[in-house]
Amino acid sequence: MYVILRTYDNYINANIALSKLLDAGIHAHLQDEHTVTVDPLLSLAINGIKLVVPKEEAPTASAMLGIMEDEYKASLSCPQCGSCELEDLSKPKGLGSFFRGISHWLFLRDTQYFGEKYRCTQCGREFDRE
Ligand SMILES: [Zn+2]
Repeated sequence: MYVILRTYDNYINANIALSKLLDAGIHAHLQDEHTVTVDPLLSLAINGIKLVVPKEEAPTASAMLGIMEDEYKASLSCPQCGSCELEDLSKPKGLGSFFRGISHWLFLRDTQYFGEKYRCTQCGREFDRE
């Protein structure tokens, strides 16, 4: 029996997570991937690309994705006080933008990410991502 671990609204993020899990020997796969890729509008109707794993592997898989997400968050910190409590000023809030951020971080790590503005919620410092 398979359970849905995450739902993605784009192909790149779904595949980052998938390959990460497959590398670790988790029997993950994507559902509805083809439909979403062909017609992004349809992803609304079918709730995006589902990353599914066998029920018994779900806790491990979930922990792995959690680590990956934490590493991403830890890669962003305030230049003034070092806090990781940041507000993304350049994008709408929400999980969707968070996962788009991950794909930039993992795949591009460069120009596309420049110019993104963050504000530290601890000290109020605003800065651009470098
Ligand atoms: Zn700060």
